[in-house]
Amino acid sequence: MKVVYSDIHQHHAPERELTREGYTPYFECPQRAETILQALRATPGFQIVPPSAHPADLLRKIHDPGYLHFLEGIYPAWVKASEPASGVVPVTFAQGGRRPADLVNQTGYYCFDTTPIVGGTYEAALAAAHCAQSAAELLLGGGKAVYALCRPPGHHAATALCGGYCYLNNAALAATRLGGRVALLDIDYHHGNGTQEIFYASDQVLFLSLHADPDHAYPFFWGFADERGKGKGEGCTRNFPLPAGTADQCYLETLDQALALIQSFGPDYLVLSAGFDLLAGDPLGDFAVSLEGLKRIGEKLAGLRLPTLVVQEGGYNLGKLGGAALALLGPFA
Ligand SMILES: [Zn+2]
Repeated sequence: MKVVYSDIHQHHAPERELTREGYTPYFECPQRAETILQALRATPGFQIVPPSAHPADLLRKIHDPGYLHFLEGIYPAWVKASEPASGVVPVTFAQGGRRPADLVNQTGYYCFDTTPIVGGTYEAALAAAHCAQSAAELLLGGGKAVYALCRPPGHHAATALCGGYCYLNNAALAATRLGGRVALLDIDYHHGNGTQEIFYASDQVLFLSLHADPDHAYPFFWGFADERGKGKGEGCTRNFPLPAGTADQCYLETLDQALALIQSFGPDYLVLSAGFDLLAGDPLGDFAVSLEGLKRIGEKLAGLRLPTLVVQEGGYNLGKLGGAALALLGPFA
């Protein structure tokens, strides 16, 4: 199995994040991708390849040009305005208000939470986007399954919003590059609000998400079961909010419902937003899915026999990430 990976993600290493406990060390750290890479390197059957460079056209298909301009230029503008070099963090939010002309003042217009933007963020997000696009091209070239080891993750990034550690939506880019009918299944513990927003009116992408009920879990405002798409995309968004403590049996039964919907949609490709924060013991989750359960998820997905692109999303228990990648990807390798 080919694994597309770029070490440029290391340039994105914020020191801290604002949580309900105050400032804490940044959970979405470079070691996440590195520990997964090490596990794959030590296992026969995985071939690590670098991404190729890509023109920006595809990015502009899913992200707003003003938003892309902001992401690219905000950090230098922020530092030039004598704001803290530790990172760009909004303190006010637009909430539907107008976009200010000044880049620094646009911060709360293009962010839905306090996820920071640091010096290497744009470069790293772009490299992750290139990993996803290159993985899509490998799949189009005849691969059975390809893994884009993306960091930073992407599923919370919407058309014109960053947040939840995400800046560019890697899975949405991959699905768009693949074209045709795509089933995009998100198994990250958190709802993939960005991906949902990008494809909400599409009848070419079936977006399905199993995640913690937004009534108690981040991102709080999206991911309810009655969000089902709009216009010609009506019915092409399906959410499966799950309670705290969800373990293997409940998870796998819910997954079966999602898989039945995928089969009746008749997709050409499966894109999987894979977040390992669904596992028991994740510091940002409260599910109780086991590694064995994750392997069963991989087996069920591989059993669909669709060309499959796995995109890395969340997962914050550093001691478990390598084993998690092997459990999920093993059935495809
Ligand atoms: Zn997550």
